[in-house]
Amino acid sequence: MTFKRKDLLGLRDLSAAEIGHLLDVADQFRGLNLRSIKKVPTLRGKSVVHLFLEPSTRTRTSFDIAAKRLSADTHAITGSASSTTKGETLLDTARNLAAMHPDILVVRHRYAGGVRMLAEALPDTAIINAGDGACEHPTQGLLDLLTIRRALGGVAGKTVTIVGDITHSRVARSDIWGLTKLGARVRVCGPPTLIPPGIERMGAEVHHHLEPALKDADVAIMLRIQKERMFQGGHYIPSQREYSRLYGLSRAKLKRWARRDLLIMHPGPINRGVELEPEVADSEWSVILDQVENGVAVRMGVMYLLLGGEGAARREGRGP
Ligand code: ASP
Repeated sequence: MTFKRKDLLGLRDLSAAEIGHLLDVADQFRGLNLRSIKKVPTLRGKSVVHLFLEPSTRTRTSFDIAAKRLSADTHAITGSASSTTKGETLLDTARNLAAMHPDILVVRHRYAGGVRMLAEALPDTAIINAGDGACEHPTQGLLDLLTIRRALGGVAGKTVTIVGDITHSRVARSDIWGLTKLGARVRVCGPPTLIPPGIERMGAEVHHHLEPALKDADVAIMLRIQKERMFQGGHYIPSQREYSRLYGLSRAKLKRWARRDLLIMHPGPINRGVELEPEVADSEWSVILDQVENGVAVRMGVMYLLLGGEGAARREGRGP
């Protein structure tokens, strides 16, 4: 299978075969990250610009490490240090960066759809969506799929429960697209204020109580309460304490309601004591740091395939 896309904007756009191929390639890059010398010449002579106009710890570092391990030159621009603070539009910023001919622009922006607009406006630059508002975060979706596939031997037929702030979560959307395409059963669980209307049309089953949502589930993906996106002044939850009582995972709830081999995931950053009790976040159920580890391999795989994959690397004498 060859991957023939210019950009990675969302898992909604991809077929199950494309997602499977991305995961296979990412899995091959995992081993490289465990070697003592973690560099291959695959993207030598290529440049990657990271344009992050929203906060990020894991995703930005992970993209940067991935690009450097593939020998690309990387350049990072963050919100506070960019000319967007002087009033420049996202499109102008991106057009100016594209005029310097980077091969890949990795973009995080608070507007859903902003990254898609750039992909259309910049025909010669590969655009990777590193999170656009509450819309999609495709590399997080892919690393979640890779983590589940590695831990459980596959995704098809598994029951995955996504708990929390579905309304404001781009991770939830990418996860739902990816999981349903690969044949998993998806449940979403949270207070009605944090479950967007129509989410069933994406193939998810809606729950408002944690106990039935966790029943027989193979995986629980716990989401962060996205305080920064609750900007309409609405009261989505009575208090963090109340939220945690109803939707947070504690050892006691796990013992009563979950399978003993439930896999617990979280995209980070964790609000300890809100969505996860600290002892659960660090427990034997948790694969949260495996997600982070797999994230580097996924981003290596995505950049490698967007720039032509094996074919281009061979043509230009840069095999992995
Ligand atoms: N890091 C993830 C994101 O950027 C999840 C989160 O922030 O809650 O969407």
